[in-house]
Amino acid sequence: MTRFRIAIDGPSGAGKSTVARRVAQRLGYLYIDTGAMYRAVGLKVTREQLPWDQADSIVEAARRARIELRAGPRGLRVLLDGVDVSGEIRTEAAGQAASRVSSIPGVRKVLVRAQQELGRRGGVVMEGRDIGTKVFPEAELKIFLDASEHTRARRRFAQHRHKREALNLEGILEEIRQRDRRDRERADSPLVQAQDAHYLDTSNQTADEVVEKILEMVQAVEGKSGSG
Ligand code: C5P
Repeated sequence: MTRFRIAIDGPSGAGKSTVARRVAQRLGYLYIDTGAMYRAVGLKVTREQLPWDQADSIVEAARRARIELRAGPRGLRVLLDGVDVSGEIRTEAAGQAASRVSSIPGVRKVLVRAQQELGRRGGVVMEGRDIGTKVFPEAELKIFLDASEHTRARRRFAQHRHKREALNLEGILEEIRQRDRRDRERADSPLVQAQDAHYLDTSNQTADEVVEKILEMVQAVEGKSGSG
């Protein structure tokens, strides 16, 4: 059976991670969270206190960063230079840092190349912002997950409630708006829906409903390619 590349893109809080992870589990595919890679680079830049206006040193830091993604019983573990940073990269501050480093073309070049290598053999569900447009424009199945701004803010709020970060819903809404604007307006690989991507609005759907829909699409693609 052909092992496809499934690209899942969309804004933050649309449900990409949960859905992508479950689809990968069901298919026995590799799950790659590319946002975690930008977050790890953002964390490295923050820790090394590199000035945000020095793009060259930030690109150099991205090159030096050893980022590993490991599937574990409690979800994806992310290692930066050999140290587990899975918790640290999930703060809103790390999200903002990721969004900033991700607008630097040299950083994108380094990470996109690594992502293409990870998905080279297929059998992968990769989620991010530019997977269907830049990383795997030839992916067999592309999904663009979206949800209303308020739904996305509520989901982020629920995720953060268990952490120590003092955040309120209004604050999160504002951060989401800022990050979306930066992601959609940047010159290099902005967040856009690929022409051949399936658009799914998840505002009124559970993650499991979305997963089932995507699995049906996978079957349809398998049928078309005569490999199912
Ligand atoms: O998906 P997540 O919220 O973890 O991504 C963090 C940030 O990384 C995004 O706001 C975006 O700026 C950046 N990103 C990107 N391209 C990707 C994945 C993430 O620019 N493929």
